[in-house]
Amino acid sequence: LMPDLDKKQELGRHAWYLFHTVLSRYPDEPSTQQQEKLKQYISLFAEFYPCGECSYHFQELIKKNPVQSKSRQTAALWGCHIHNLVNEHLKKPIYDCTNILEDYDCGCGDYDEFNKE
Ligand code: FAD
Repeated sequence: LMPDLDKKQELGRHAWYLFHTVLSRYPDEPSTQQQEKLKQYISLFAEFYPCGECSYHFQELIKKNPVQSKSRQTAALWGCHIHNLVNEHLKKPIYDCTNILEDYDCGCGDYDEFNKE
């Protein structure tokens, strides 16, 4: 089967959208268990990412730039930074991370499933 560049890019855009939106909803003050779970989530996201070369490259990037799971802000900034490393690799423009949390407002209101008791 021939690789289809349009589909690969569409997959990338959708995957990044979910990736950044998840990080923008990660707890402000995560428990140790939530921090551990975020690391697992990102590690599995990378391992099972459907494009093989992307998966391989992203896992290598994560090894050199481990997930920052201490707070919502650090996690979201880490996500922006690692996406920028992929942008750099693909010779795409570098994204301004200043307003990363606002940029990925999920539109799901105040109710925070992850933080509920
Ligand atoms: P995308 O990079 O898909 O970004 C979508 C939108 O997100 C942009 O338009 C912008 O609004 C915003 N954005 C851009 N940068 C950031 C940032 N740093 N933080 C927050 N938001 C941002 N493709 C390959 O060819 N080779 C690879 O090795 C490869 N690895 C990938 C690894 C992963 C984990 C993922 C999710 C995708 C990968 N891709 C790879 C796909 C690639 O990153 C792009 O998604 C695809 O080329 C489409 O690019 P795009 O220009 O539409 O913007």
